[in-house]
Amino acid sequence: MNLNNLESVIGLEVHIQVNTASKAFAPEAASFTSTPNEHISPVSLALPGTLPVMNKKHIEKAVRLGLALGCKINPRNYFDRKNYFYADLPKGYQITQDGDPICLGGSLTLSGNRKINIHHIHMEEDAGKSIHDIDPLNTLLDYNRAGVPLLELVTQPDLKNGEEVEEFVNTLRRLVRYIDVSDGIMQEGSLRCDVNLSLRERGSTELNTRCEIKNINSASNAKKAVEQEIKRQLSILKKGGTIAQQTLDFNLKTQKLTVTREKEDAHDYRYFPEPDLSPIDLNEEYIEKIKQNMGRLPDDYFKMLTEEYKISEYEANILVESKELSDYTIKLIKSSELKIRTITNFIINKYLPEVKTGTDELESYPLNSDQIIGFLELIESEKITISSAYQNLLPALLKNPEKDPKKLIKDLDLIQDFDSNALKSIILDILEKNPELLKKYKNGRKNLFGFFMGEVMKASKGKSNPKEAKKVLGEILNKSDG
Ligand code: MN
Repeated sequence: MNLNNLESVIGLEVHIQVNTASKAFAPEAASFTSTPNEHISPVSLALPGTLPVMNKKHIEKAVRLGLALGCKINPRNYFDRKNYFYADLPKGYQITQDGDPICLGGSLTLSGNRKINIHHIHMEEDAGKSIHDIDPLNTLLDYNRAGVPLLELVTQPDLKNGEEVEEFVNTLRRLVRYIDVSDGIMQEGSLRCDVNLSLRERGSTELNTRCEIKNINSASNAKKAVEQEIKRQLSILKKGGTIAQQTLDFNLKTQKLTVTREKEDAHDYRYFPEPDLSPIDLNEEYIEKIKQNMGRLPDDYFKMLTEEYKISEYEANILVESKELSDYTIKLIKSSELKIRTITNFIINKYLPEVKTGTDELESYPLNSDQIIGFLELIESEKITISSAYQNLLPALLKNPEKDPKKLIKDLDLIQDFDSNALKSIILDILEKNPELLKKYKNGRKNLFGFFMGEVMKASKGKSNPKEAKKVLGEILNKSDG
């Protein structure tokens, strides 16, 4: 292998927690809770004599995701048992799909039209959680997650680097939120990915021994893990070593990779068809109905914003971040007289920076479209100065999102109400108080104009229109110049 001309070959396995009300095979809530062992039942604890019951919503959401990604829906699919022993898996096996998964093929497109092919998507259940860091002597077990429905999406080894992996995870996360398949909250483990990575000579098609990094819980950590693993494998090869098939762990605290397990293959799990559940038969009509109820996807909104409303691709990308924001933007454009530029400018440059703290998407946006229209119309009609609108009204509105901006502006006494006579008297007052500076101005220190402007705005408590104030101040200063 020419070590100076290598490329990385990356495939992902993404586990998506499905937002159904109940668990995959048991009746208790599937939602996240921080109280340990709150959502459990005899089925998820695998008490003797209990049997699993399929969850229709799990199947429906699997089909939804499959259709959104252009997969072929497998009309007859079934569950298998994946056998392994671990304390957080009370049955001693996981119910999953091995031989005949529900969705086959399909693809997800990254920016620049990079198509990442999907091998398949299957349904399975999650395991519970072993907690090692509370009790110094014992491992504690929390079975809330045991039996929570998952979709596992397995890509072809089409990804090339950490950036693509990051974009893939972010794009998939956005999609599952749009189509209401998962809440996509990565901190709560709603989306976790395993990365398979190997190196090969550029242009070659062979697949070399790969290593797997397990359970990465954010897109940016996935990128970091990939970049470190490429370096790690490269340094082994450079020392003349060979890559052994290993499982690694990306430590959140140290942000470092550590090897946790040696070689592990599918046959170790002794898969066989789940005898307690019947095969799943899906007819055309059922699939068609789900397709009809899908709603607009991020790509549809993107197309609409760029083609119909001529919004730049850069801006459209920001606006399609969530379905709520896309719907919102389109409603603002359609239902107000405001210019599209005014709306997009406001959302991208003022509103989002104000309401978003991290890089994560928002669960919901504090203001509704009527409030935003009201706010922007106040600016357009010059009822409030722009600076006061952003410094005073917007923060107040965000604190009182139930209020009508047109009422709030009155309550807060922010209405721009200085006519030119009132302005004139304020200006004369200021000039009178600063005779020395006025003299300097007259003697040529024209940059003092800014100082006087500042004083005028201060004296009018930000309620005068700066354009008007500038005009009147200019007139007065020039007059007293003469
Ligand atoms: Mn899995």
